[in-house]
Amino acid sequence: MTDSEAKTIIDAKKKELGDNLVILGHHYQSDAVTECADFVGDSLELARKASQIDKARFVVFCGVYFMAESAAILAPDKSVYIPDRQAGCPLADMAGYDDVLKAWDRLTRVSGSVIPVSYVNSTALIKAFCGKYGGVICTSGNSVKVLQWAYQRADKVFFLPDMNLGRNTARKLKIPDGQIVLWDPQKSGGGLEDSDIERAKIILWKGWCPVHWPGFTADDVEAVKAKYPDIKVIVHPESDPQTVAASDESGSTAAILEYIRDMSPGESLAVGTEANMVKRAARRSRSVRIVPLREVFCDDMAKITLPKLADTLLHLGDDTYRVTVPGDVAGYARVSLMNMLRI
Ligand code: SF4
Repeated sequence: MTDSEAKTIIDAKKKELGDNLVILGHHYQSDAVTECADFVGDSLELARKASQIDKARFVVFCGVYFMAESAAILAPDKSVYIPDRQAGCPLADMAGYDDVLKAWDRLTRVSGSVIPVSYVNSTALIKAFCGKYGGVICTSGNSVKVLQWAYQRADKVFFLPDMNLGRNTARKLKIPDGQIVLWDPQKSGGGLEDSDIERAKIILWKGWCPVHWPGFTADDVEAVKAKYPDIKVIVHPESDPQTVAASDESGSTAAILEYIRDMSPGESLAVGTEANMVKRAARRSRSVRIVPLREVFCDDMAKITLPKLADTLLHLGDDTYRVTVPGDVAGYARVSLMNMLRI
């Protein structure tokens, strides 16, 4: 199927299904896909949208698998689909459920006061793990507030799966580097002694987003500043802490877009996040200069194409593209998401 044939099918299905269908597109999707979406946003914003649109029976999530799972968790009355079930997230997949349980067992044996906090970029099983053990989910936009909430309930935070977001957030909370330790699932006992766990305020799971780390570096920041005098640099907090320290700002996708909206004509900004979003923002903001800090795309987001979206719309009546989360997992995952939404 060509893109143009796919577009014809998508338009026809949208017309036929009307309010019964909502197509959600993540900021990191291509222009071709976001142009077909009813709403474009970050993962949590879109999952909430799925739960708030009363009329829609069918939700097609153009993003990666954990995002469609979150929509299915928050909108249990709707059927949620993803145009490519292989569109996973390497970061989410770095926290395997059994490995996390083993780590939890050890951490809670050494310390009686630990709370799990997971970034929303995690599997439904990990969200459920957090819900089951009194924990919470965070986004890159609210991680400071969420950790403050967590420290009102326990002495230590077990943060997963993104070590960079965890360290960047811990630094914002002025947690000394000596009290930030890394649990490496490839090493026996996470590579930590009991004394490391005892002195830690935060135990970071060793996971990372390959789009943001180690790709964006402090050298990139220096190079772009040398090339464009007066340019400011903003990076996503999944980037290396040294890159964040070298940049003028760091922020979630929503915060980056807000920063761009507030720029004055003639200003320049280099952005360290997925290039589809950066390039689209650059095209839409003609009075300012927006450049990618480095041009990096997410291969999994790129798996969603117009022909796959069209095929999904042709198969809403069966389970080919449907995403479901087992009831007990969804129940506990909803607890951790609702803990966050109440903060
Ligand atoms: S950009 Fe990173 S965190 Fe987002 S889906 Fe791609 S690999 Fe996962």
